[in-house]
Amino acid sequence: MATNSILDGIKGIFAPEADARAATPAALDTVDGTGDGTPVVVKSDADWRAELAPDQYRVLREHATERPGTSPLNREKRGGVFDCAACGNPVYTSETKYESGSGWPSFFAPIPGAVATTVDRSLGMVRTEVHCANCGGHLGHVFDDGPRPTGQRHCINGVALDFKPEA
Ligand SMILES: [Zn+2]
Repeated sequence: MATNSILDGIKGIFAPEADARAATPAALDTVDGTGDGTPVVVKSDADWRAELAPDQYRVLREHATERPGTSPLNREKRGGVFDCAACGNPVYTSETKYESGSGWPSFFAPIPGAVATTVDRSLGMVRTEVHCANCGGHLGHVFDDGPRPTGQRHCINGVALDFKPEA
């Protein structure tokens, strides 16, 4: 009887519910693996269009890229936090911001769990897209030519960020 109960216990571990969960593909992964990256805030396209400025809407919801060198945040040197412009989720801090020379605000790491990535195959390239883990808004791309300690370069559209200087 003891053997049977152990087997029953093992069957319980491999219950159909558990299998179904494991088979569900994770559409989005956070950069640091702290979450599955599925957007928490979900709004209709009409709502986003009404809430966001046109240039923000094009970047955050239509994956446009702002022209390099146009964001005032390129020159932002103060300490503070960069929030997602769509939902207010804090996504980067000044502590990981650096001057990449690319013309876009650049960071070597996000706030843990704040952003998620997907594979972007547009424009004939394979790139890693970075978006807000809270609302799914497109922020930019991440490349592997960044500085220590991560080696990552999060190349972010300034228009997708709201900077909150430290008090
Ligand atoms: Zn967001």
